[in-house]
Amino acid sequence: MTPLLNIRNLEVTSDRKKIIQQCSLHIRKGEVHIIMGPNGSGKSTLCHTIMGHPQYRVTRGSMKFNDVNLQKLSPTERAKLGLFLAFQYPQALPGVSLGQVMRATAHSMPLPKLKQALQNALQSMQLAEEFATRSLNEHASGGEKKRLEMVQLMLLKPKLAILDEIDSGIDIDALKLITQAINEQRAQQKTSFLIITHYPRLLQHLTPDRVHIMMHGRIVHSGDSTLGKQLEQEGYAAFEYTHKLTRTLRKKQTTQRD
Ligand code: ADP
Ligand code: MG
Repeated sequence: MTPLLNIRNLEVTSDRKKIIQQCSLHIRKGEVHIIMGPNGSGKSTLCHTIMGHPQYRVTRGSMKFNDVNLQKLSPTERAKLGLFLAFQYPQALPGVSLGQVMRATAHSMPLPKLKQALQNALQSMQLAEEFATRSLNEHASGGEKKRLEMVQLMLLKPKLAILDEIDSGIDIDALKLITQAINEQRAQQKTSFLIITHYPRLLQHLTPDRVHIMMHGRIVHSGDSTLGKQLEQEGYAAFEYTHKLTRTLRKKQTTQRD
């Protein structure tokens, strides 16, 4: 099966700063991939680059979604293909409600059906009905914002959902609601997920196919869900060593070739 998301040897630059290097990632339909890594390692940059944020330039490598080259497409075109990003820091939209955003983005759904689906999604995230009509994310708590991102995901039913720290700043009950929704979307819609997290506890609620460790803009290690446990016990230091060793070997090989 060809991967849904196929990233090869990606290099991303912003303001002449190389943020991501030699990053390859393949996600198939229905798979859940987790990326963990210290602050500033390039996780959010990768999410934004996949979605087409104009601040980030792909200076090497390729990014394909369903065999379509993403690089020339606008964020809206990428969303229409079935990509979705839940932001690490969801922005407030004063004067624009969730209902309005959903009407603009899920426009293929007839209005009564959309209203019902929105009500159901709010209910399953334990958010009051008024969240449909008040300004999106304005005066919302951190946990409410994350749950509102999930409501949008549930209505849009993307092929690949990228969740950037969806579990940061939320309580244990919200974590359960969110992971339940992820598991449901995966089972019912065969949605693929790319999930960024700092917390190995998330792996207890999901069954990821792959866990990747990102450091200094590179994926330095990939493995199964046991990687979370290893990380909890050893921290990132062990992977820092592997990263340095690989880099040294690569440099040596290049010098020998020259
Ligand atoms: P993470 O999400 O892993 O914490 P980020 O992707 O947010 O990391 O950032 C990776 C690095 O790139 C950081 O050093 C950050 O300061 C830098 N960075 C991110 N965006 C930009 C930008 N637009 N211009 C310059 N540097 C940036
Ligand atoms: Mg980040």
